[in-house]
Amino acid sequence: MIWVIWRKVSATRKILFAMTDVEIAGRTIASVNPATGETLREMACATEEQVRDAVLRARAAQPAWFALGVHKRAKVLREFQFRLHDKKSDIAAALTREAGKPYVEALTTEVLVVLDSARFYVENAHSLLRDEHLSHGNLAMKTKAGCIVREPYGVIGIISPWNYPLSTPATESLAALVAGNAVVVKPSEFTSLIALELAALLHSAGVPKDIFQVLVGDGSAGAALLNADVDKLVFTGSVATGKRIGKAAGERLLPVVLELGGKDPMVVLEDADVDVASSGAVWGAFMNAGQTCLSVERCYVHRSIYESFVEACVTKAKQLRVGAGNDPQTDMGPMIHERQLRIVEEQVEDAKAHGARPQTGGKRLPELGPNFYAPTVLTDVTHEMRIMREETFGPVLPIMPFNTDEEAVALANDSEFGLAASIWTRDRGRGEALARRLNAGTVQINDAVSCFGISEAPHGGVKSSGIGRTHGRFGLDEMVRIKYVAADRLPRMKKVWWYRYGAAFAGQVEGLVDLQFARRVSQRLRGAIRSASALVTKRL
Ligand code: NAD
Repeated sequence: MIWVIWRKVSATRKILFAMTDVEIAGRTIASVNPATGETLREMACATEEQVRDAVLRARAAQPAWFALGVHKRAKVLREFQFRLHDKKSDIAAALTREAGKPYVEALTTEVLVVLDSARFYVENAHSLLRDEHLSHGNLAMKTKAGCIVREPYGVIGIISPWNYPLSTPATESLAALVAGNAVVVKPSEFTSLIALELAALLHSAGVPKDIFQVLVGDGSAGAALLNADVDKLVFTGSVATGKRIGKAAGERLLPVVLELGGKDPMVVLEDADVDVASSGAVWGAFMNAGQTCLSVERCYVHRSIYESFVEACVTKAKQLRVGAGNDPQTDMGPMIHERQLRIVEEQVEDAKAHGARPQTGGKRLPELGPNFYAPTVLTDVTHEMRIMREETFGPVLPIMPFNTDEEAVALANDSEFGLAASIWTRDRGRGEALARRLNAGTVQINDAVSCFGISEAPHGGVKSSGIGRTHGRFGLDEMVRIKYVAADRLPRMKKVWWYRYGAAFAGQVEGLVDLQFARRVSQRLRGAIRSASALVTKRL
């Protein structure tokens, strides 16, 4: 017993030492309006002890939440959906204030996504979570009734980023909650207020306080959540943090979902509508100021339409109205903070130093506020430049020509990431065929980014873009443990494969194998005769 406790303690110590920033007592974070730099609220970071206690409370409360049954939990989600709808304008305004995005985007990419996600789980949770009866193919197992049972993990920890501060934690939480889990969320330190709004809405809809908790704080609070007694961790954020979390989770075999970064390619074939594709490129690259994991990060265009496509993108990028998100005229808002802006600036400068040419933008807009960067279209880019290899996460659209489909596929797949991709063509069949050749979790044809709003669609990536899926039925499956229950229909019969072994038994087993798998019918029949006596042979 003592040895077991010591093993647990030392495993936890190892994880703690593997993470940095673990000492978190007395720290504070500030929520800031990125358009103005105004501090909205200062908050104390949750301490490691508070995180641990929250998880303990969640664990204690979870059985009663599970016992409610899926119908009652879905009813609570429906109530949440109505309440979010009632408050849609306030919530969207709060999102604009804290994350900077234009009000319309707060509605379309956050509020609407969450409303529809709730709709999906309310409508489908019952059928997706119910027991699944299976029939067995193996003759020896025909006497058993099999059933797949989906059980909640218990406590799900969720660590989320700032770029979709409502839709990311909310969609994941709704799946976890409807499956019967308790949830503890550690939101991004830059967008804590909106996470607290989410908690208030869920509580007012009937989710018990201990079943959904938000603990604000920086990376150390996230590390504390990882180290607490959660049963699964769903992390959305950068590859660097995701790898650290994966490594620490591996130490104790904690299951994780990792939704990480992307470098999504857009492939424009020669038969694409240049006007439509260029509008798609500009929106896909600049919406949320390019701070979208699914945004168009690199664009490949068939050489025959390259010039006209670039020209159209430049014209449209110049027409974008950049400003504070609460101005209804604004198309593109600020970036979240100086650090993110600097990453973009460095990548653009690196590209310029290696021969890239900004056709528009390529500079800060300090006259608008602290975190504004101009929508930037870059040409003469190559795969040797950081801008084509690293996640930029800012308003930059680098465009490169290609000559053949083969070349386009090779360029699109030449990346450590594989979150999403898009193909632009008038020929849907061709687009769907090419989609199968791209290494990505999602491929859209003639649109980008919007797949995040399809509640039925699984969301997640391959390669460095992560592990596992959120959204839809696969997202729900991530929130349950699979248990198999196999009940024998003949409880009074000793099974023929039990003891006693011997030469006669070996012959019967050979017969059983032949009966099911021999190539020739005659051998199968002989197998049936050889194996039949197993039914009457005495077992121990
Ligand atoms: P980040 O990795 O810096 O932070 C994400 C979260 O992890 C934050 O809550 C942060 O406090 C926390 N954190 C930081 N260090 C931690 C640690 N050591 N242990 C535990 N938690 C820790 O990412 P970010 O800058 O907030 O978000 C931007 C990134 O998120 C981009 O790379 C973007 O592509 C990615 N993202 C991915 C998806 C997706 O679905 N694949 C969606 C949105 C954003």
